[in-house]
Amino acid sequence: MKDVGSLPLLLKQLALPTMQVLWEELAAKAMDQGWHPAYFLKILCEHELAHRHSRRLARHMKESHLPSCKSIESFDFAAVPSLNKTQIMGLASGDVWIENGRNLLIFGPSGVGKTHLAAAIGEQLIQGGYRVLFTRTTELVQKLQAAKKEFTLAATLDKLDKYHCLILDDFGYVKRNGPETSLLFELISERYERRSIVLTCNQPFQQWDQIFEDKHMAIAAVDRLIHHGTILELSAESYRKREAESRLQKERGSTRKKSKSQEL
Ligand code: ADP
Ligand code: MG
Repeated sequence: MKDVGSLPLLLKQLALPTMQVLWEELAAKAMDQGWHPAYFLKILCEHELAHRHSRRLARHMKESHLPSCKSIESFDFAAVPSLNKTQIMGLASGDVWIENGRNLLIFGPSGVGKTHLAAAIGEQLIQGGYRVLFTRTTELVQKLQAAKKEFTLAATLDKLDKYHCLILDDFGYVKRNGPETSLLFELISERYERRSIVLTCNQPFQQWDQIFEDKHMAIAAVDRLIHHGTILELSAESYRKREAESRLQKERGSTRKKSKSQEL
C-alpha cells in the first residue's frame, strides 16, 4: 500500500472532520467488500455532508433561543378550533412567505397557545434550513436601545438580518415611550418585504396606539406588518386554565377516592 500517513493531516487542513474520523474504518470495509474507489469516496462525502447538516441544525437551534418543548407535534390543534392545521403546516414549511419576507401575526388572549405556536413554527423553519431568532419583544427593544446609545445600532440591525425569521413574542408588552417604540418601528421598516417577522400579541390592532407613541406610527407599523402578511386569531379557552382545571378535577377525584376508602 502506498504511504497514506499524511491523510489525517490533509483531511484536517481541508476541514473534513467526519472523513478524518471515518476514513480508516470505511477503507477497511471498502477493501473487504471490494468497493470501487469512487464508491468509497462517495460514501465518505455523504457522511461528511450528513454530519455537517446536523451540526448546522444544532447550531441554528442553539442560536434561535426557542423555548424548549414547544414543538408542532406537542401542539394540540383540536384545542384551537379557529386554527386550520393544513395552513399552519404550510406556514411551518416556510417557502414562499419566508423567501419573500412576509409576516405572520398571531393574536389572542393569554394562555391560548400563541407563544407555543410561534415557537413550533420557528422550530420547523429551522428544520427546513432557515435561521430563526426568538425573543421577547421588550428584551429586543432594550438591546436595540443599548446599541443606539453605544452607536452600534446599524451593526445590531445587520446582525438581525441574518435571521430569515424574527419571532417577537408578546409584542403588546412594549410600553409606549418615544425612543423605544421608534426603534421597534425602525426594525419593522428595515425588514419590510425582505425578512419575515412572526409576532404574538394580546392586543388587537385597535389598541396599538398604546404601543406606538403616535397614531401615525401605529398605522404605519400595522400597514407594513400586514401587507402580504397572515393573521391568525387564536380564539379558545386558555389552555393553561383548562390544564389547571383538569388537574384540579383529577386531584379532587383522588381525594374523594381516598376519603371513601378511609370511611370503609
Ligand atoms: P400564550 O402565549 O397565548 O399566552 P402559551 O403558548 O404560553 O400561551 O401557552 C400556555 C401553556 O399552554 C404553554 O405551556 C403551552 O405549551 C400550552 N398550550 C397552549 N395551547 C396549547 C395547545 N393547543 N396544545 C398544547 N399545549 C398548549
Ligand atoms: Mg405568550
